[in-house]
Amino acid sequence: MWFGRRRAWSMAALAASVTLVSPACSAGGQESLVGEESLTIGVKADQPGLGLDVEGELVGFDVDMAHEIAERLGATDVELVGVTSAEREDKLISGEVDMVVATYSITPARKTEVIFGGPYYVAKQDILVRSDENDVAGVRDLEGRSVCQGEGSNSALRITEGLGIDVSELQEAESYSACVERLAAGEVDAVSTDNLILAGFLAEDPEGFRLVNNPFTDEKYGVGLPYGDVAACEAVNKAVGEMYQDGTASELLDEWFGETGLEVVRSVPQFEGCD
Ligand code: GLU
Repeated sequence: MWFGRRRAWSMAALAASVTLVSPACSAGGQESLVGEESLTIGVKADQPGLGLDVEGELVGFDVDMAHEIAERLGATDVELVGVTSAEREDKLISGEVDMVVATYSITPARKTEVIFGGPYYVAKQDILVRSDENDVAGVRDLEGRSVCQGEGSNSALRITEGLGIDVSELQEAESYSACVERLAAGEVDAVSTDNLILAGFLAEDPEGFRLVNNPFTDEKYGVGLPYGDVAACEAVNKAVGEMYQDGTASELLDEWFGETGLEVVRSVPQFEGCD
């Protein structure tokens, strides 16, 4: 049974006086995920191509990335759990998960609560509409239209605060699959989020939807880690760098997005730094 890292950290004082099984330590003396045998990793469970529960098995680009990174950090036992956008920081802070690889954009606000390795990919925000919607050609056309986002996601803010666009209604569903259902049912005009996410849903119903294909942000997909684990952040960056050098990243991009028509970027992203 895995005990929360937070709890492990709160036991640091105890560990100082009692010799317990020695945990891996970062340079600053803080306990690190590096070298842990077992890691619990949060991934999405409802996003085709990224993290999707298929008959009880989680599959997708983020899932494969999570396994690769964990292995390169030295873990031999990886447990994956489904997380929603809204749960990511909380689950890292509580120690319920050790790591989050879940279309998780690095943002200044999130960096106050967790630390990010990577990015391991830079996606771009785009828009999905029903295939019979011909009047949306770019983000400005969302003015006066209703838009759905997954709760806890950053995508709506990119449109409203980021670009000052007045949508007629902002719907928050518990996940992006729920938003796409609302779009299909005519309950909302558009779903706007990362192109990788939208391409995955489009591939499931190419007749029903249209990807506008007019991207307007950089979504740097980070590996969410417990705040302060600089050693893990550095190890993740090393692992991601290697995955781009040895062809693993390119293979995974091909495997999961090669057929979607999306132009994927195969060069190693610029790392954010671990401070
Ligand atoms: N990448 C964006 C974010 O982290 C949107 C997708 C998501 O919420 O998973 O907010």
